[in-house]
Amino acid sequence: MNILVQKFGGTSVANFERMAEVCDIVEKYKNDGYSIVLVVSAMGRKGAPYATDTLLGLLSEVNKNANEREKDMLMSCGETISATLMASMLSARGINAVALTGGQAGICTEGDFSDSRIKEIDSKRIISELEAGKVVVVAGFQGVNENGDITTLGRGGSDTSAVALGKALECGKVEIYTDVDGVMTADPRVEPNARVMEEIDYEEVFQMADKGAKVIHPRAVQIAKDGNITLVIKNTLNPMYRGTEICCVNSDNGKIECSGKSERFAVAHKKGISQIKIIDNGDFGKILSEMEEENVSMDMINFFIGEKAFVVDDTDAEKIEKILKRNNVQYSIRKNCAKITLIGNSMSGIPGVMSKISKGLSDAEVPILQTSDSSMTISCLVDEQDMENAVHAIHEQFCV
Ligand code: ADP
Ligand code: MG
Repeated sequence: MNILVQKFGGTSVANFERMAEVCDIVEKYKNDGYSIVLVVSAMGRKGAPYATDTLLGLLSEVNKNANEREKDMLMSCGETISATLMASMLSARGINAVALTGGQAGICTEGDFSDSRIKEIDSKRIISELEAGKVVVVAGFQGVNENGDITTLGRGGSDTSAVALGKALECGKVEIYTDVDGVMTADPRVEPNARVMEEIDYEEVFQMADKGAKVIHPRAVQIAKDGNITLVIKNTLNPMYRGTEICCVNSDNGKIECSGKSERFAVAHKKGISQIKIIDNGDFGKILSEMEEENVSMDMINFFIGEKAFVVDDTDAEKIEKILKRNNVQYSIRKNCAKITLIGNSMSGIPGVMSKISKGLSDAEVPILQTSDSSMTISCLVDEQDMENAVHAIHEQFCV
């Protein structure tokens, strides 16, 4: 069997018209001889009747503190609805199809709710349905834990479902369909000059995803890399366009590698960040362990004698303030910041990258609040109100 896993995101299954376009794509590949596993997200984005946030809203109407188990159970319904409708629409067209929940598809997860990891996949059921000639439509974003409870995989988790299924089914390639032409040099909603990147390697796209580019979930990239799976990001509305290939097989030695070695740069952004500065004369280790206990993760960490600076998500600001007050330290907090990251495949070899960033931001009159870097990335913290200007400025310097 030549199995192909294709994942369709929320906007790709937002209404019946969109779903019909998905059927067209599936039909084409089926006619080309592929055995198809479709992974679908919940219909539409925030505000749509069966979108994840809408479902969560229902729960908060009856209980503001509903437990995580019930939250997961309800959230998972969005994908189950999509899968059922997609399979039924395919069947109505004469394409034999079956809808499976994550659990029915054999996706076993770790025990945790809301951001669960996939532990293993038992692909027997999927294989037997494929052997019976059916298109298998799997509800993304969900699995089932040892207790038989439904657990969800975190926002963007359908990407992870698709890639993990691809790995379990030993597919060489997984296609992720979304509402843009591929991985672009920046989020096209923020940067009008963003370009599609035809090719990019796992590590670069992982860094982009990790630094806020929503186009693919970082955990999905990680699984693809470990499983040597080529990921292709394509546009449901423009399926003939080749999209972005995240690594390809070198036919000479069978090894996965990106063919192009040319310089590639992209810009990612993430808002909703708080910068914390602490005048520290005491036992900072105690604060760190309290943060760990309360699951507050920090980033952009700069430690100096007498002063510590780092950032946390705005949603953790309250928690961290409580910890700092409890420990009687002097601190300042700057909420509503954004992190802009330049990602480059050959950053460390190129001189003057930081000076170009600094010039771009200074010309755009954007103050840099803090920086951090790695061999592939340079991040600048700015005020959220400067975020768009900062993206334009850095994109202009490196990506056009
Ligand atoms: P889906 O529901 O299909 O999973 P997402 O909203 O999760 O779609 O991801 C697609 C969105 O990611 C695009 O609409 C785009 O605004 C955003 N995005 C952010 N950064 C990038 C980038 N570098 N390239 C492409 N899209 C990006
Ligand atoms: Mg997504």
